[in-house]
Amino acid sequence: MPLSINKYAEGIVTPRTRQVTNQLRNFPDAVNLTIGQPDFPTPNLVKQAGIQAIENDQTTYSPNAGLLSAREAVANFFQKQYNATYDPETEIIMTTGSSEGLDSVFRTILNEGDEVLIPAPTYMSYETMIDLAGAKAVFFDTTDTGFIPFPERLESLITERTKAILFNYPSNPTGAIIPQQTMNKLIAVLEKHDVFILADEIYSENVFDGKHISFASYSSIRERLFLIHGLSKSHSMTGWRVGYVLGPAKIMQYVTRVHAYNSICANLPGQYATIAALEKSQQSPNEMNKAYIKRRKYIYDVLQQLDIDVVLPKGTFYIFPSIKKFGLTSLDFTMRLLKESGVAVLPGSSFTKYGEGYIRISYSYALPEIERGMKRFKNFVEQLA
Ligand code: PMP
Repeated sequence: MPLSINKYAEGIVTPRTRQVTNQLRNFPDAVNLTIGQPDFPTPNLVKQAGIQAIENDQTTYSPNAGLLSAREAVANFFQKQYNATYDPETEIIMTTGSSEGLDSVFRTILNEGDEVLIPAPTYMSYETMIDLAGAKAVFFDTTDTGFIPFPERLESLITERTKAILFNYPSNPTGAIIPQQTMNKLIAVLEKHDVFILADEIYSENVFDGKHISFASYSSIRERLFLIHGLSKSHSMTGWRVGYVLGPAKIMQYVTRVHAYNSICANLPGQYATIAALEKSQQSPNEMNKAYIKRRKYIYDVLQQLDIDVVLPKGTFYIFPSIKKFGLTSLDFTMRLLKESGVAVLPGSSFTKYGEGYIRISYSYALPEIERGMKRFKNFVEQLA
């Protein structure tokens, strides 16, 4: 009899995005607008802090939860930005990117049969991580509400199986943020229901108009809230693999243990770089945002000229236009765009079934590249119409 493998691992499917990105090597001249990787280098003084750590032989394990000084830097950041008080000793851990933070929290709070409600379209990794924990992601549609989760709809979907609700705002893939009033109403709903709340706020520093509103600002839900965070986007540090989780002490002790067994600790030079990023490089995201705002405007204007339905993203570096009027599935549209016109974007269906009928264009690319891509996009669309 063949050896069986874990049933949840067996169920993992290759991300749909691969269907597009795997094709890229066949189109070397294609303009690639698929990736969520800032095109800026890690800020210099952040790099220097990491280099210095290596030079000083700070290449060892750290405590499981991370260096206390790194956790203090995170606590200070949250106190200053959101007036949220977290104890660095018991309520914050440093993780291997926010991905590991998410995974450790899911493994800590979920049992088989539990459900996690997630406004969609949304980032594709959540579902697989939840599946691996034996639980189930339940998505709810936000496409008819400007990609913003409506509190009444959310409340109508909470059942006794709902163990947690996950919010990712600013949102990958839509770039939506939750306006203050909606946020207040959502919190009122969350106050009534005994569920865990996960807030993946990895794009919090990439907000273009006004300031990010964090779930951390609402003390009424604090004892059930986990903030998933990191520097991959804000400081262009995807390859450093540093992130952090903040949550209530009584549950963070378990999250820390799960994390201790899958990672031991976050990489130490990266933790030193984190301190530099949070303490000395707070302006770096704003510098990057200036470029994103110009690129967003360029793409948005082209889409408007083409009479394509699109919500102006308020944050991240993604835009999520509708391609419904062309009568193609998002995968067909994307593949044809690549093959016929040499532009790679992602099909909306990669971001749950509610993303069908949309495409995600990333503008974490230099403006000349975006201009080249959008000119080709325009020709493609005009041909289709
Ligand atoms: N959450 C969201 C919404 C993301 O888009 C990403 C990366 N694309 C992550 C989490 C994971 O980021 P990292 O593990 O690099 O912190």
